Amino acid sequence: MKAMPDFVPNFIDGRMVPALDGRSFEKLSPHSGRALALVARSGEADAARAVAAARVAQPAWAAQTVVARGNLMRDIALRMRDCRDEIAAIVAAETGKSVANALGEVDAAIEMGFFVAGEGRRYYGRTTTSSVANRTVMIERAPVGIAALIIASNTPIANVAWKAFPAMICGNASIMKPSEDTPATAWVFARICAEAGVPPGIFNVVQGFGAEAGMPLVENPAVKLISFTGSCGTGRTIQQTAGARLAKVCLELGGKNALVVCDDADLNHAVNWVLQSGFSNAGQRCAAASRIIVFEAVYEEFKARLLRAAGALSVGPADTDFMGPVINLRQLENMLAVVRRAVAGGATVLAGAGRLEGERHREGYYVAPTILENVMPDAEISQTELFGPITVLYRVSGFDEALALANNSRYGLTACIHTANVHRAMRFAKQVEAGVVVVNAGTHGSEPHMGFGGFKDSGTGWREAGTEALDVYSEWKYINIVIDPART
Ligand code: NAD
Repeated sequence: MKAMPDFVPNFIDGRMVPALDGRSFEKLSPHSGRALALVARSGEADAARAVAAARVAQPAWAAQTVVARGNLMRDIALRMRDCRDEIAAIVAAETGKSVANALGEVDAAIEMGFFVAGEGRRYYGRTTTSSVANRTVMIERAPVGIAALIIASNTPIANVAWKAFPAMICGNASIMKPSEDTPATAWVFARICAEAGVPPGIFNVVQGFGAEAGMPLVENPAVKLISFTGSCGTGRTIQQTAGARLAKVCLELGGKNALVVCDDADLNHAVNWVLQSGFSNAGQRCAAASRIIVFEAVYEEFKARLLRAAGALSVGPADTDFMGPVINLRQLENMLAVVRRAVAGGATVLAGAGRLEGERHREGYYVAPTILENVMPDAEISQTELFGPITVLYRVSGFDEALALANNSRYGLTACIHTANVHRAMRFAKQVEAGVVVVNAGTHGSEPHMGFGGFKDSGTGWREAGTEALDVYSEWKYINIVIDPART
């Protein structure tokens, strides 16, 4: 079955449409560099058209009960389950990850749909006391209105689901701007929404590049919320632009996640989790472990075992390969340039550090799993998110140095420690500056019912997924009712 459409259009007001000026761009396969599809290249007029459709549709959507909206979210999730293989094939084609990995991601997105659907039967508010007699205070959620949802490409259907479901259940109309690298995943989700009966204008997709199709949404005064997942640099630009008109902005940004291996760790277990955390999805995870901090006492032994295991990782296009390519040539060149500068600055290459160009990799954007050591904590490669299969080993004398090094980052998304000592584990959990802390496993993201987000430059304090996501997509309204008992 050919999963990708030849042309990936916009989805505006319930209809699949090309860009108004007819422009398009090629989406290339990460496996081969060859064109997979043409994609609508939207601009300001397309964004304005989608916002206008959303404005017309939103009041009636908000007037439905949240239970009815929840039922519709469940129907979308069920339909996604029916189309599971088709969605996974699209995700795999667009990203280059294996179908098996793509299926896992689709299942997580479906679970997000079910979780959010259940919120239709909860959607709890609060009541509170008052100093005034006969006054009742109820606190309820209200929709924000029109939301722009701008997302990254790394786990595309999860990224769609993490924003689209909570935006819809809260009564908003939204315009999604998918990554230019993964347009068809948003397209298939939009199609499923339409089939499930989501009213025209409630979920729109504007395809294209960030500056051309995304920024007009950020600038549009009718867009009251911008929910963004992507890099720090883009997030900062969006925050500055939207801040000028006081729009609500939720930023979920990058990470430079630390994984600490103590001298009492189960080393084979730690090696396994370092490989998963550093290299799964070709390292294109905001939660990827890119700084491995190892106690001096076990450093050489851990390194030897890690290198043995890393040497056995297969990279390629097959389902049986551990990891596939990175998303595009620009990202590949950027990350390898940072590696080259690190090596010029004295870093030692323990594994990888280049593009793979063998028979199975020709023309594809494959980066060898890369491990470096002898890097200073403040070097560019220690401080810059690379978003690829590249990780660095650091040697520390003990716990205090490990904790200080873990916190020596502008980012604070996830962190992990491997130890058998509950005292170390708990001190690390309390003192590491990260939104998600893991003991004895990997640096990973959240499940649908868990809030996810980071400290410091990894975000602006919001949490996506979990019931916390409802706080992003709704406003709290305090309703005061004063009665006069004399009139009963
Ligand atoms: P990116 O910032 O380049 O792009 C993200 C999205 O923003 C894309 O849709 C892009 O087209 C759009 N965009 C770019 N410039 C824009 C502009 N000026 N105005 C409006 N939109 C614009 O990020 P990327 O390289 O695609 O994604 C990788 C980044 O995403 C990494 O930093 C990663 O850590 C982060 N990420 C974070 C999370 C999280 O939950 N914290 C999850 C996944 C990815």
